[in-house]
Formats: sequence, structure tokens, C-alpha cells
Amino acid sequence: MSKLRAELESDRERRRFGTGWLSGTAAVILAVIGFGTVLCLRYPDLLTVPDARAFYNVGVVRAALHLVLISAFALGAVSIVLRESKVLGFSAMALVLAAAILGGSRAQESANIETDVYFGLDWFLLNLILTGIIFVPLERLFRLRDQPIFRVEWREDLFYFFVSSLLVQGLTYLSMAPSMAILKHADAWSTLRAWVASQPVIVQFFEIMFFTDLVQYWMHRAFHRVSFLWHFHAVHHSAQSMDWIAGSRMHFFEIIVLRGLTIIPTYALGFSEPAMYAYIFFVYLFSTFVHSNLRWTFGPFSTWFVTPRFHHWHHGIEREAIDVNFAVHFPILDRIFGTYYLPPDGKWPSGYGIKGPMPKGFLRQFLYPFTRRS
Ligand SMILES: [Zn+2]
Ligand SMILES: [Zn+2]
Repeated sequence: MSKLRAELESDRERRRFGTGWLSGTAAVILAVIGFGTVLCLRYPDLLTVPDARAFYNVGVVRAALHLVLISAFALGAVSIVLRESKVLGFSAMALVLAAAILGGSRAQESANIETDVYFGLDWFLLNLILTGIIFVPLERLFRLRDQPIFRVEWREDLFYFFVSSLLVQGLTYLSMAPSMAILKHADAWSTLRAWVASQPVIVQFFEIMFFTDLVQYWMHRAFHRVSFLWHFHAVHHSAQSMDWIAGSRMHFFEIIVLRGLTIIPTYALGFSEPAMYAYIFFVYLFSTFVHSNLRWTFGPFSTWFVTPRFHHWHHGIEREAIDVNFAVHFPILDRIFGTYYLPPDGKWPSGYGIKGPMPKGFLRQFLYPFTRRS
């Protein structure tokens, strides 16, 4: 494993085109995606999100899987020929072989597992593919900082990404169950709710954006100012590199509070499901975007909408960057409440992170707010 990691994190010279790094890395990524998909086909009850199953066209999934496994194998072979270290190529081929043993693209559902618990492995794979396809090329072409894909602490952040995708069920349940309870006792609200839901979806979408941003602004500010809460939020701020996976680094407790305080009230207010889903999808891509390693400043657009530069300043190590730019969508909230900071010269912060120490690794960071001594 450590050899594989060292290979992925190779320096620029050993990543050059023709060294077998690109083919080997692509092979490993495709093999992981292929192997995960085979697992989803074999254990759908356990590993896929029930609501999502209805949307999958299994025929297309199998055809794509076939292509992915073959490509992973072929690229692995190319890497083995080109590269003196065979770790990348052989790892990819071993995974493809394991996927083939489990049935490959013809994998059948193995014995029906009766379970109420499931993990969103399909969700993780889709997230990774979708955001990866959008952001990896963009961050190569329009990068702000010259950092490799496998930069410092990439494994930690990818693990955060993985865990929050897998636990999609727990998160959805935690945010949905209370809203359902509220709805049962909300007769007096029904007129308001009916009116809210009767608006055009696009209007509802912007209302949700504004409402959740207002809630998040104050919640976010509290997470910075109240020292008990800060130790949870410090995990998010401990990221030293910003890119498309950096935003995933967030303490589980904070995710629950954030979801609870934004999603429950929006459901309770009666916003329609299409508007809610559109918002949830949008906010996911948007938070990936504001953390990304993209140098675009967006000119006058940045006055009205949060941009990567705005949020990068929230993460900056400079003195001026402390406790500023709390908004997630609309910077005007920071202007109104006096926490806006965006230097006019197009400057970016010199680095990211927090002053105090932060333990390394997911588990230690999970325990950190409860066990820290200070
Ligand atoms: Zn913050
Ligand atoms: Zn952030």
C-alpha cells in the first residue's frame, strides 16, 4: 500500500508523459471504480441507495463497466511496459482480476441480503466520477497553485469524501425524520406550505438558497466564535491545500448540525421536492467549486456570488482572513453583518490552515473535539 501511495505521489519528473505514471494512475482509478461497481451489482441491498436504484439503467451500467474494466486492464499493461516500477500497473490489473472473479460486468446479485442498513457506495462512485470529470481537468488547465492531484493529505480528504458518501442514509434519515415529525403537527402551516410549494421551482430554488445562506451564515459564525464549536469546525479549516476534495473535510457533528438546521426548516416550510433536490445537487457542486484550485476571479460576478477567491480567503492563514467571509452563496450577508473581506487587487491568501495543532487522520480528528487538552 505504501509503495502504491509513493508511486501516486511521484514527483514531477517521474510523472512526465511517457513514464507510465499517467496510464498507471488512470488504470488504478478505473480499476477502483470498476471493482466498486461490481460490488454494487453483487450486493445492491447493502451497498446502494434504495431511492437511487430505480434510476439506474442496469444495461447501460454493465456496458460502461465492461469498458471501464477493459480500459483499466489495457492501461495497466501500458504502464507495466513503460514504467520501471510495476506497482501501479499490477495493482490495477489485480483489482480488475478480482472484479472479474466476482463476475465482472455480468456480476449477478448474490443471495438476497435482508437488511435495513445500507451504504451509499454507488453514491460515492457517482460523486467521484461526476466531480472528478468536471474538476480534475479544470484544475489542471486553470489552476491557481501548482500542486499535484495527489497532494499533501489527499488520502485524508478522499476518506472524508468516501465516508460522507457512504453515510448518506444516516444523514438523510437524520435530517428527514424530524421534518416528517414537524409536518405531522403543522396543520396551521398548511396554507403557508401550499403557497410556498405553488411558486415556480426556480423561484423556490433562489428562496431556498437565500434562506439556507442566512441560517448558515450565523451557524458558521457561531462555529468560529464559540470555542466548543470551533474545535469541530477547526477540522474543516485544517486543510492546507485547497482543491475539489478539500471541502469534504468536515467533522461529522458539523455535517449533522448543518443539515439539520438547513434541510429540516426548508422541508417544514413546504418547498417542493424538485426545488429541494435541485438545491441539494447545486449546493454540493457549489461547495466543491468554492474550495477548488481554480484561478478565475469572476470579475463583477464576485460582488454578488461567492467565488473560490472569496472562500479561499475564509481559509487563509493571513491575519485579515480570520473570521471573515462566512456566507456560502451571497457575499452581501458578510457586507451587511460586517465580516466581508476581499482585497481589491485580485490577491489570494498565501496559504491555508489553522494556527493550533490538529491531529492527523480521520479517527483522531473525529475524536479531537472530545479529547483535546486545553
Ligand atoms: Zn469556517
Ligand atoms: Zn471551506
